[in-house]
Amino acid sequence: MITNEYLKGVYEGLAARNAAEPEFLQAVREVLESIQPLVERHPEYEKNGVVERIVEPERMIFFRVPWVDDNGKVQVNRGYRVQFNSAIGPYKGGLRFHPTVNASVLKFLGFEQIFKNSLTGLPMGGGKGGADFDPKGKSDMEVMRFCQSFMTELSKHIGQFTDVPAGDIGVGAREIGYMYGQYKRLRNEFTGVLTGKGLKWGGSLVRTEATGYGLCYFTEEALNCMKNDSFKGKTVVISGSGNVAIYATEKATQLGGKVVALSDSNGYVYDPNGIDLPYVKDLKEVRRGRIKEYAETHPGATYHEGCKGIWTIPCDIALPCATQNEIDEESAKALVAGGCKVVCEGANMPSTPEAIEVYLANGILYGPAKATNAGGVATSGLEMSQNSERLSWTFEEVDQKLQTIMKNIFHNTYDASVEAGQEGNLMVGANCAGFLKVADTMVAQGIAY
Ligand code: NDP
Repeated sequence: MITNEYLKGVYEGLAARNAAEPEFLQAVREVLESIQPLVERHPEYEKNGVVERIVEPERMIFFRVPWVDDNGKVQVNRGYRVQFNSAIGPYKGGLRFHPTVNASVLKFLGFEQIFKNSLTGLPMGGGKGGADFDPKGKSDMEVMRFCQSFMTELSKHIGQFTDVPAGDIGVGAREIGYMYGQYKRLRNEFTGVLTGKGLKWGGSLVRTEATGYGLCYFTEEALNCMKNDSFKGKTVVISGSGNVAIYATEKATQLGGKVVALSDSNGYVYDPNGIDLPYVKDLKEVRRGRIKEYAETHPGATYHEGCKGIWTIPCDIALPCATQNEIDEESAKALVAGGCKVVCEGANMPSTPEAIEVYLANGILYGPAKATNAGGVATSGLEMSQNSERLSWTFEEVDQKLQTIMKNIFHNTYDASVEAGQEGNLMVGANCAGFLKVADTMVAQGIAY
């Protein structure tokens, strides 16, 4: 609950102005609830209007994306870029192509990104963008035409020192390639304006794996430090079967866990023998198939329609890696009933506020997304450094840096939870640690009149 009068006033004003944006308000409320002790200790934040400024994007760009489908028919989608906060660096955050994309979803993602990027320790501001375009079922040529049209407008608003987008749901190597090609054609320059690029043209090793690997590095460190435990011998349930889920499965398995379930937006597979990852990589990364096919080819595995049932599978560790609000109160209770002791988030805001209450009430080690999935953007930051140097670091070098960053994020988050008087509440810790650096910078940089 928000009890501080200053924060209550800011939230109420924001809720009145953005009543139709539930995801955005959910993300803001969580942060404001967490930072109450900080705001009380630092009167300069209220004096400098830091919180009312931080909840308002610096700039939002909405644009038409016209393109022609394979039948020659003109299609129109809506494109967005939310440039939320540039206090500590150029705007940085992914592009999402999914039919559910709207201003509320992108504002929540952009807002979260401010604190996540701050937690990485790298100089990156927060942003997010995308379109209500669904790449699923489209031909490569249709995706290319869409990406080119999208970038034709977006290119006017981004740049290596201004705003550096990356991938997210529905935007992988193929889409980044088409968008980068178009940016280069339009601007006649070869710069690090996007991250997640191909390895032959400025991409960084480990960027593809980074979010999933980083999630497991954080989880392993948290298990070590908070429970004197590890992934070894643990049963793991992971939702999604996209970029984050695949590389979380790979690292969790390498660390000694057994991943028994994956999903997509239609349903989930349960394989008590442990997920056959090479098959999933081929299915999802090469053939762009559905997870249902897994059960058709793996004796002992079963397929279940619908996404929610995945949380009823007994497990020790759950790593939600699909989308926002995928675990509600009922699913959180099902996880507890199934023996789950750890929930660390690969997806952004996958747990509803009610689900988080269930985790905290039941002593679950809960790792919030802005800390646990920061490995992706951190490695994007490393890609930007390599682009600036015109050098490529080795896999081992980048992976080592990623491990160090994730361990630091855990410790900074944990220490901040202690400072806030809520030891072990990593949600409060992540919000406070992420906010502090940006808030102090906003005070230092003054207000533009
Ligand atoms: P992908 O597009 O590669 O994969 C997304 C996966 O989630 C797919 O299996 C997809 O199934 C499933 N999914 C998407 N929407 C829904 C839905 N509404 N209900 C159920 N399942 C759904 O995306 P990523 O793996 O890149 O992203 C997954 C999550 O991780 C997102 O929340 C993203 O914001 C977050 N994230 C990603 C980062 C990255 O580096 N890629 C960095 C930090 C966070 P289907 O194929 O059926 O749509």
